This record gives sequence, C-alpha cells and structure tokens, in this order.
Amino acid sequence: MRRLFDSTLSRDLRFCPTCRQPFVAPREVLASHEDGHHVVELACSNCAWSAIQLHDAARLIELDQALDRDTAQIEAAAEALALSLELDRIDRFASALHDGHILPEDF
Ligand SMILES: [Zn+2]
Repeated sequence: MRRLFDSTLSRDLRFCPTCRQPFVAPREVLASHEDGHHVVELACSNCAWSAIQLHDAARLIELDQALDRDTAQIEAAAEALALSLELDRIDRFASALHDGHILPEDF
C-alpha cells in the first residue's frame, strides 16, 4: 500500500500505520525545500506499507536518532545472545569433560 503525502503530524514516524510495528525507515529523500522541509519516501520493513510524505528536518533527525538507538539495542542484544551461546557451549564442554565423554584421543 503506497500513499502520497499521508497525514502523520502527531504519530511517531517509526510506527507503521498499517502493521503498527516500529519498522518504518526513510527509503529516499525525493526533494528538499529551502524552508527545511523534505519530501521523503518512508517504508515499513515489516509489511508492504510505504508513503511519500513531507516532514521538517527536526522530525527526520528525530526518526534517524530513534533508528540509531534501535540499531544499538539490536547490536547489544546480538552480542548478549552470542555471549550466552558461548557460555552454554563452554558449560556443555565442561560437563562432557567431567563425565568422561571427551578423551585425549578425541584430539
Ligand atoms: Zn508495516
């Protein structure tokens, strides 16, 4: 679903008006006006929604900063998951070693 100049004055730009998930990001800046407004194409990466909208620079900077925070949270979660998996692997190795399932000839 694609809409031209959708009215979005009050809502958080990250939230998709169709699926209501925070996966909206700018796809392309189509035009910039001297008054600081930009015509941008926004798209949701969770569904097929996209729209061409007019927003001021402050609103787009706010969206960009929110996307940066979301990216940092995802990266932190991925690092925590990787650490958790590594600790689990170490625990399983220690258990196997303790139970005699790993022998010198295995190496
Ligand atoms: Zn969506």
